[in-house]
Amino acid sequence: MFRFSSLTLIWMALGVGAALAGELAVGPGDSGADLLEDTTDDAGSRSGDVAAAPEDLIGPPVAAPVTQEPVVPLADAVMAAAGVAGPIEVLGTEVMPGTSHRLAWSATELFEGVPVSTPVLVVNGALPGPTLCLTAAVHGDELNGIEMVRRVMHDLAPSRLSGAVIGIPIVNVQGFRRGSRYLPDRRDLNRYFPGNPDGSAAARIADSFFKNVVSHCDALVDLHTGSFERANLPQIRADLRDPDIVTLTQGFGSMVILHSAPAVGTLRHAATQAGIPAVTLEAGGPSQLELTEVKHGVKGIETLVHTLGMVRKMRLWGEPEPVYYRSSWVRADNGGILLADVSLGSTVRKGDLLGTITDPMNNARTELRSPYSGRIIGMARNQVVMPGFAAFHVGIQTDEAPVEDGVDVSVSEMPTDNDDYVDSMSE
Ligand SMILES: [Zn+2]
Repeated sequence: MFRFSSLTLIWMALGVGAALAGELAVGPGDSGADLLEDTTDDAGSRSGDVAAAPEDLIGPPVAAPVTQEPVVPLADAVMAAAGVAGPIEVLGTEVMPGTSHRLAWSATELFEGVPVSTPVLVVNGALPGPTLCLTAAVHGDELNGIEMVRRVMHDLAPSRLSGAVIGIPIVNVQGFRRGSRYLPDRRDLNRYFPGNPDGSAAARIADSFFKNVVSHCDALVDLHTGSFERANLPQIRADLRDPDIVTLTQGFGSMVILHSAPAVGTLRHAATQAGIPAVTLEAGGPSQLELTEVKHGVKGIETLVHTLGMVRKMRLWGEPEPVYYRSSWVRADNGGILLADVSLGSTVRKGDLLGTITDPMNNARTELRSPYSGRIIGMARNQVVMPGFAAFHVGIQTDEAPVEDGVDVSVSEMPTDNDDYVDSMSE
């Protein structure tokens, strides 16, 4: 399999211990939603143990060890790809160079007892290069990514493509059919990767998907939206301690980039652990098709395909520069009706009013103000909230260049509450 850089494995080996240690720290998250009805005994599945944790089980960032080796830009790696394009075999089908195929993947374990398959779109270029994978709707109610994958895949011309692109518009087809984030048993599929062939249904589905599809990828972009009535400004979530992943983030053009260590069990985490640099692209909120967000995401992915050297075309964005942010959630201190005074993408100054919470019983009104100057990169829709609810995600632009030597961009300058700065409430 083509590899961007051998550094990934080295980094994995060095970083695993630290990463695991970090993941033991429990954040104060507001979710736990996955747990509510998730009482199934899951003894056979290690990933099941992990999934029994709330979504933001993310520890403080851990500085990765410094390496002296230069990072090989992905684009250069593509240029260096020798030889001629060959067929790739996916799901038992040989896809010849210069052709597109629509394949079908169905997990071996199904709740209804009948196979439910989901499309796997493969465009194998006529020229050699890496295999980029695009996955969407791992959470079945996240619709924007489905449309992004469709648009990107149908715009690709196999005759002019270097490498291959594999697109899976709807990974969690059972959730999608029910309009639900979860699998039918209320498990969150994105807590079970890379899966376990002997585990719970979720673990088996994850295992089948990982082995049959993800194993073919050299890099992966997992598409998500905000969750639980929250929406995200289009943004890339990436573990900036990994140089290969930093290189990936630099390919998207003018996107907001947020450092975020992936939770164990997420597709992003499992892929990275397997040596496949992976990022999450967040855009918009669940249960809606948001055209502005879809177009933004498509532009970012198409810029990536171009930056990787897989497609030659005019630059899509002037001088596309990623914009790196650190971030913090502003939480509700009181329960009540949350009404926002800002919108997604708003620029705010320290002390600015973000929204109000009004107690419907006694009419008491409290204000949420921004503790930082920055930009609203995620926010809750207007709704009734409980104390502690994460309402506004404020991104603070950082001037520091992202990792060149493997040290996190802004670990030392993160807001002191580490639990706040990492948001995994969407992915
Ligand atoms: Zn999601």
